[in-house]
Amino acid sequence: MELLKFTDKHHLFRERLKKFLKIRVVPEIDRCEAAHITPKSMWKAMGKEGFLCPGVPQAYGGQGLDFLYSFIVWEELARINFTGLAAPLHSDIVVPYIQTFGSETLKLKYLPKCVSGDMITAVAMTEPGAGSDLASMETTGVKEGQDIIINGSKTFISNGVNCDIVVLAARDPRTEDRHQAISLYIVEAGTPGFTKGEPFEKMGWAGQDTAELFFSDCKIPAANRLGKPGDGFLMLMQKLQQERLVCAAGALFEAENILDLTIDHCKTKKIAGKPLSKFQSTQFALVEMASEIRILRTFVETMVVDHMAGKQIIKETSMAKYWVTDMSKRVASRCLDIMGSDGVLESSPLARRFRDTRVTSIFAGTNEIMKGIIAKSMGL
Ligand SMILES: Cc1cc2nc3c(=O)[nH]c(=O)nc-3n(C[C@H](O)[C@H](O)[C@H](O)COP(=O)(O)OP(=O)(O)OC[C@H]3O[C@@H](n4cnc5c(N)ncnc54)[C@H](O)[C@@H]3O)c2cc1C
Repeated sequence: MELLKFTDKHHLFRERLKKFLKIRVVPEIDRCEAAHITPKSMWKAMGKEGFLCPGVPQAYGGQGLDFLYSFIVWEELARINFTGLAAPLHSDIVVPYIQTFGSETLKLKYLPKCVSGDMITAVAMTEPGAGSDLASMETTGVKEGQDIIINGSKTFISNGVNCDIVVLAARDPRTEDRHQAISLYIVEAGTPGFTKGEPFEKMGWAGQDTAELFFSDCKIPAANRLGKPGDGFLMLMQKLQQERLVCAAGALFEAENILDLTIDHCKTKKIAGKPLSKFQSTQFALVEMASEIRILRTFVETMVVDHMAGKQIIKETSMAKYWVTDMSKRVASRCLDIMGSDGVLESSPLARRFRDTRVTSIFAGTNEIMKGIIAKSMGL
């Protein structure tokens, strides 16, 4: 039974996107990976074609489409083996903060540009001394009259160089309770006191500009706060369900791709005159991976259905984030063993996927943190 009910409109959207990615994005991938950044022109082209923020309502310049359109974008982006164009982060992780918690003025000001690709977004929580333990963040946001003065720094921020606006988490040092001290603010690039680092050279996600952000007496309007003062931590928690779903689905698609390309390889590669795919040990390995991937696709798709129905599935999305990202790493490693030395060549499609998969158990909450959340929800 098909869990996700795609209509003809969804299929048309997917076909248009596939064509766009093939013509406009695929030829640029190697250049982006070498430069550690994806050009803004590619984002604008995505926006112009309607592939960014499909769920944003028409009143804010969007198309008001259902969540399955986002799922299609994640799936097709994963299929082209490119993590540089972080549209899922922009459309389905950062923009929802503005859409859900922004004032009408903020929504009218920023959302149309996020949809068109004229504005690229980032979310800045992590700091050099505050990764998993967000409550220990040191970046401060202090109200002075009608302004907020931001001081501190953030690190490992995806879209850190390209971003035109950042959803920034900062704490009010005058509030003792560290959780209740955190608020979220929109900070525009170009605001005096806000500077960006160079894109990190990192293992995997090479076309993605991950960078440090610095704030020194950076003055922003108090009206740029999302939601109520001190609600930042709650807002982050509320949006984590979707973030983890995006992560789990991305890792699932990566595993599917890796398995597909390994199967193709095994059918053509001959050992002692017979294709690798005809060896029983290879067949069993491929079958075991295919089975686990198929089972997890059902799990992920079930969560997409539940998420669209507005159900609270934080335990399940945490389970999926941990299990599916671990699974994709296992698949990448096992497929590399099956391919042998052919797989380690940079010219092999597996090499990049192997690196890209590795980090998925670390970002968006490490898998240890996921297990902590699950344990808590089990009353342990
Ligand atoms: C490519 C990339 C992109 C990123 N993009 C962003 C972004 O856009 N925005 C953003 O804000 N951040 C981003 N991050 C940061 C990411 O979210 C953090 O790396 C992640 O939250 C983990 O924090 P940490 O690396 O500081 O690890 P730490 O928190 O220092 O953890 C180190 C180890 O300790 C373990 N650990 C920590 N606490 C516990 C605990 N309570 N129980 C058990 N084990 C624990 C962890 O699981 C891990 O194994 C990105 C990171 C990467 C690598």
